[in-house]
Formats: sequence, C-alpha cells, structure tokens
Amino acid sequence: MQADLVIRNVVLNGEPGDLIVQQGRIEEFVPGGTESVQGKEEFDGQGFFLWPSLIDVHVHLREPGFEYKEDINSGLKAAIAGGFGQVMAMANTNPVNDSASVTEFMLEQARKFHPHGPFLHPIGALTRGLAGKELSPMAELARAGCRAFSNDGLPVENNELFRRAVEYSSDLGLKVIDHCEDVSLSEGGLMNEGEISSYLGLKGIPVVAESLQVARDILMAAYLDTPIHLAHISCRQSVELIAWAKQKSIPITAETCPHYLVWDESRVQGYNTLAKVNPPLRTRDDVLALQQAVREKVIDVLATDHAPHAEFEKDVPFGEAPNGISGLDTALSLCFGLVLDGVFDNDDLIRLFVNAPSEIFDLEANTFQKGDVADFFLFAPEAEWEVRPEAMFSRGKNTPALGQKLRGRVMAHFLRGRLVFERAI
Ligand SMILES: [Zn+2]
Repeated sequence: MQADLVIRNVVLNGEPGDLIVQQGRIEEFVPGGTESVQGKEEFDGQGFFLWPSLIDVHVHLREPGFEYKEDINSGLKAAIAGGFGQVMAMANTNPVNDSASVTEFMLEQARKFHPHGPFLHPIGALTRGLAGKELSPMAELARAGCRAFSNDGLPVENNELFRRAVEYSSDLGLKVIDHCEDVSLSEGGLMNEGEISSYLGLKGIPVVAESLQVARDILMAAYLDTPIHLAHISCRQSVELIAWAKQKSIPITAETCPHYLVWDESRVQGYNTLAKVNPPLRTRDDVLALQQAVREKVIDVLATDHAPHAEFEKDVPFGEAPNGISGLDTALSLCFGLVLDGVFDNDDLIRLFVNAPSEIFDLEANTFQKGDVADFFLFAPEAEWEVRPEAMFSRGKNTPALGQKLRGRVMAHFLRGRLVFERAI
C-alpha cells in the first residue's frame, strides 16, 4: 500500500509506531511500525512524541496598527514553532476589528504569509470601537469569518448591553468571550493587591475586580441559558464561583493562562515590568487553586493571552509599562514543566489545549482517529532550551521566562499532512 505521508518512529501516548496520513487526514497509527505501507513522503520521527496541534483561543497579534509589537506573520510563526496550529486573535487592533474589512484584512494577511497554516480565526469586537457603548455589526463580522466576539481589554460594564450582546451572538451561533474586570475597582492598579503591593508602594488590583464580573456573567448565563466563555481567570475566588456554576449546570466555560499556573505576584519584585500583566499575577494560593481547577476540569481551557510588546515599551518605570506577556513561544514548554512537576499529565494538557477549545469554539481538531485533520507536531521531551530573545519567533520578547531553562521543544509541525515548520538544529 502507498500513502501520501508516513511518519516513522514516533511515540503516541507512550506507544512507539508509525503514523499514516492520506489526503491531509489521519489514516492510521500503527503501533510497532509498519513495513507494508510506503509513503510518497516519509519522515523520520526520531522517537519524538507525536502530539496534536494545539489551539490557542486568546492571542493578540497586533496587526493592523501595532506592527512594531508583532504582526500576523511573526505571530503565526511563533504559533507554529510553539505547537499551535490554530489561533483566535482578539479585536483590540487599530482600527479595531469591528468591521468586515478588518476581519477580511486579517484573514488575507494570514493566508498570504502562511497559506498552509497555522490558521487564524479572528474574534470580532463586541462593541463598536470596543467603546462599550453600542453593539458592533455582529452579523457582518460573523459572515466575514469571526469565530467569537469579545471586548477583551476593555470590559463591558453596561449589563443591559452585555445581555443583548450575549443574546445576539448566540443567535449567530457564536460565543462571547468575556474579559472579567470591574474597572471601577481596578482603575489605576498595577499589580495584585496585597502585601507585596503595599511593600512596593504600587496600587493594587483586588481579586474582587475579577470575581465580581465572573459572578455577573455566571448569573447572566444562567438567566439567559446561553453559554459565556470567561477569559484569563486568575484567582481562587473566581474558580470557586465557576465550580458552583458548573455544579448547577450553568453554561459557563473558562480559560486560564500558563503564566497564572507557574508564576505568582512575587515575580513583580524589583519592579519587573516583564511580570506586569492584566489580570495581574496573584498569590501562591491562587496559583494552587488554578492548578487544581485545570486538573478537575473547573477550568476548561488553557490559552496564552499572547500580548507582545516592543522592548522599549517595557523598559520604563513600572507604572508606565503596558500590561502583557508574550506567550506563544513558551506556553507549551512551561506547561510541560508542570507535567514534569506532576501538577497534571499529558492527557490534561491535550484536553486543555486541543479538545476543549475545539469543542467550545467549534474548531476542527486532531484526536488521531481515522479521518481527523492531520494537524500534529513532533515534540522532543528531553530537549532543554534557554528562553533568550533570539530563541523566540514572536517579535515580543516580554516574558518573565527570559533566562529560564525549559524542557520540551517542537521539532517539526505538520498541518493537513504538510510539513510547515522544522526546527533547525
Ligand atoms: Zn483580557
């Protein structure tokens, strides 16, 4: 038998074997390997792990408008090298993605620079100009290719407007992703409110600025019986509310980010602007609550909230630095570190980064069953690398991981059965 592609000598779920791909789809994984199938193309997997391409439902690619921080080309390069085959990009560009022309431009840029993927799914602005005053033309955005709606970065305070956004979005078959923040409580805040913020003399952002709006969204989802997805959950109090909602079968889903699972507020000490992010890094107790929540499926999804900035923007006094961590290059290795530490296992990682995002946002994913899209990468679990600016594909080098040694690297990445990234060694 002849196949389009055979990946030889790879390990899937602990089992060595060969992967057979036909017409961009998974044909079969053959444990122990096969000699009866030849590939038109063959690839030596060198004993690396075979993992499905990850999906990141929350990135900021900065184009149009802020190409000096990142553009769609560089952002997608970082995605593919970081293990992501699909990303959902937030609308806080300039102009804001609140019209079909911006959505179409983003999709064109993605196709132009990465015709074979990674694949970009724009997220439409929930309100015009993200101003929180009137709804965006949501039907037009959906037709143009937006896969969800969000006011990420500038939360919607007006509850009536938010209600209508959720209802209208649901009529279009798409979900609202809410950035939970009560701005009246967080205004002027620079880091988590607590002992360290007092010690550093920095105005704090209390956890209740997040959890108050998490509670609103849960009550709204219950009342409307309509799903709402909560972005970048950062604290125990929010986790407890979400657990309650799930117990009541309220249609809430939630994400957290690798940085909330690995770092706490102490990273800010020394006025480290690389650790300035919104919501802020919280306490050790919050980190432990989130780790438990991802294990126990209270939190459904991991997303990077990839927020690249130029070096000069972070190289300023703490109060003036913009919020955000560049996440696409390091997310997988940081999370694999949690696997090595026994916080969760590889199956959890794949559920959080592949299965759940695919289900919630109706995106095609690979589960290595016959007929699935052949989106996968080869992962070297032993490879150690140091996070240095030149080791990152994103234009944004802003991460507290700089200088840290991480384990695990993407060695080659295939989308629809085509090699789209291979790491030069
Ligand atoms: Zn946000």
